[in-house]
Amino acid sequence: MEEKEKERRFTEEQFSEIKKVVSELTKDYHCEICKNPKWTIDPYMVNIPVTNRVVVELGGSVLPLLPITCTKCGNTHFLNLSVLKLLETIRLRRLKNE
Ligand SMILES: [Zn+2]
Repeated sequence: MEEKEKERRFTEEQFSEIKKVVSELTKDYHCEICKNPKWTIDPYMVNIPVTNRVVVELGGSVLPLLPITCTKCGNTHFLNLSVLKLLETIRLRRLKNE
């Protein structure tokens, strides 16, 4: 795996904790488009800028979102890692690994 790509991904420790929480949430959840019960949990987060301006500010606040994708049709949902109480875990694990 390329170094840049590796940096974007959660560490194994972070990801296993995330998977534990998200797998439990999605275990009985079927895709509303194709009814498939299987979801892929992406190994990284997507940060959407939060702003009241038209321009994107560097270093501004973001919504920390985790994509989960239906394995059959690609329908993608974003779960807020802050709401799932997983942000602190990610921060602590990252500090430990630096
Ligand atoms: Zn689907």
